[in-house]
Amino acid sequence: MNPEAQALYEDMKIHLGKFVPDFELYYKAEIAVEINALKKERNAVILGHNYMEPVLFYSIPDFKGDSLDLSRKAATTDKDVIVFCGVKFMAETAKILNPSKTVLLPAEKAGCSLAESITAEDVRALKRKYPGVPVVTYVNTYADVKAESDICCTSGNAIAVVESLKSDTVIFLPDKYLAGNVARETGKHIIFPSISPSPIIASSGGEMRKGDEENLLDVQLIGWNGRCEVHEKFTVEDIRAVRKQFPDVAVLTHPECPPEVVAEADYSGSTNAMIKFVQQSNAPHFLVLTECSMGDNIAAANPEKDLLRLCMVRCPHMNMITMENVRDSLLHNRQVIEVPEEIRVRAFQAVDRMIKIG
Ligand code: SF4
Repeated sequence: MNPEAQALYEDMKIHLGKFVPDFELYYKAEIAVEINALKKERNAVILGHNYMEPVLFYSIPDFKGDSLDLSRKAATTDKDVIVFCGVKFMAETAKILNPSKTVLLPAEKAGCSLAESITAEDVRALKRKYPGVPVVTYVNTYADVKAESDICCTSGNAIAVVESLKSDTVIFLPDKYLAGNVARETGKHIIFPSISPSPIIASSGGEMRKGDEENLLDVQLIGWNGRCEVHEKFTVEDIRAVRKQFPDVAVLTHPECPPEVVAEADYSGSTNAMIKFVQQSNAPHFLVLTECSMGDNIAAANPEKDLLRLCMVRCPHMNMITMENVRDSLLHNRQVIEVPEEIRVRAFQAVDRMIKIG
């Protein structure tokens, strides 16, 4: 093993040795050294989402964080190449913000169930149905959907973005549960209109089957039926079962979880906000209901904290990003993300407005 890889292995052993077997640390330390050399050669920056697997997350990103953080980093980088260790909509956002840079996504098929739940034509249909109503889209959407929107949001700033519009009614797409949680927090009523794939009406986060939503007088959020295939799987029963065994556990949820799960938890926030909560809280145990690599990453960074595992769901899309394909993306310049200029310019306005709100 070369000395650089040996030093990296020893460092990773200290921080990740509880989660990752030695042979994997050895193997990946050598790849990390190759990646770091390629990064220099290509004048590249590597952005790593909080859901990356622990060794990759620990060893190669120049910047780590949630979608909003990484969008901000992407907007200010002076490097020629951006390698996005995340999923396609994130790499597209980096390209939207940096049209002159080469943006690489190491796994071509790293998608997202939320991004795939809605098309630009769906948004245009909603705008025809509700003319003049502003459209907020979650950043977990593709560029052509962002281009149809007035402003984007992340899970961390969704409420601030909705409130910034100062509009009685807002179209909020595409995450049904994030919309439900925004409605719950703000006391707004929400409908999921009939052009949605599976019509449902909900009020303040609680659902009822569709009647005639046009008769509702106080509609304030118009949602969509998209769901994160990871966060939708957590249940209230999961939380109650863990509390039975660990009554003093602090339960943290992501706002992409169903509203009743969020209501049962002690705290809900973006991935970054959850990390901060764990760092600042003295709770004897933590249960973090989100993508399971993030639990490992928080535990690695906070060895004095007791992170309980309810790791039943690894995001299959995030899981496609590996050390090997990050190295190959730099080596062979793949997969290059392109966004047609006409779409990019309109999507940029929506993303830029979001970044300015913070
Ligand atoms: S965790 Fe959910 S929202 Fe995030 S990329 Fe995976 S499917 Fe999409």
